[in-house]
Amino acid sequence: MRLRNISGSREAIAASRYVIQEPEAMKGRWNEAFGNRRPIRVEIGMGKGRFIMEQAGLHPEINYVGIEKYSSVLLRGIQKMEADPLPNLFFIRMEAEYITDVFGREEVDRIYLNFSDPWPKDRHAKRRLPSREFLQRYDAILKKDGVIEFKTDNRELFRFALDEIEPAGWRLEQMTEDLHHDERMMRDNVMTEYEERFSSMGNPIYKYIIAR
Ligand code: SAH
Repeated sequence: MRLRNISGSREAIAASRYVIQEPEAMKGRWNEAFGNRRPIRVEIGMGKGRFIMEQAGLHPEINYVGIEKYSSVLLRGIQKMEADPLPNLFFIRMEAEYITDVFGREEVDRIYLNFSDPWPKDRHAKRRLPSREFLQRYDAILKKDGVIEFKTDNRELFRFALDEIEPAGWRLEQMTEDLHHDERMMRDNVMTEYEERFSSMGNPIYKYIIAR
């Protein structure tokens, strides 16, 4: 059976208290979901949630929202939260294209993109999470001094992402083509599931941090 078809995952998600069921209703009032006014950081495409759950555990002073479009992978994150709940983390099952319906202007402090789908065909470039179309959406929700942190092992996607920065009106703050051998950028690095897998295969990990 393919993971994507795990039966009942949609029902389990609909019943979970760790999932925001109507995220559009939270737009502009996410502080109410968390019960405080701490900064909110979002991972788009969280997969099973290893990265965002570790971040949330390390930083109780920060709030986290994990976005994932596939129920079956999100379900893994929910199961981990049930075993070990974190008060400063919520999940949303959604397609990230609609992120501006869910967060208001300057509501987000930082966005993480980790090992985003490459969409290798040119005609699918708009679907890539670091594309100029998505950067425009992030611009609409991120604080003025907020940053985007992007990691991937995909060289073509990284090249594409670098070329999108200036046309979209952003600026490169930091970058490396070999994160695991870059002492400065490795400081406080939290490994993602894909990062562990691909770096153990010997692939270099690319990372940038961008701001406006
Ligand atoms: N961030 C995790 C998973 C990487 S795989 C890690 O680094 O280990 C990429 C994940 O992003 C997949 O689970 C995929 O379903 C999700 N994803 C890709 N595009 C998305 C989109 N547009 N909206 C929501 N989730 C997306």
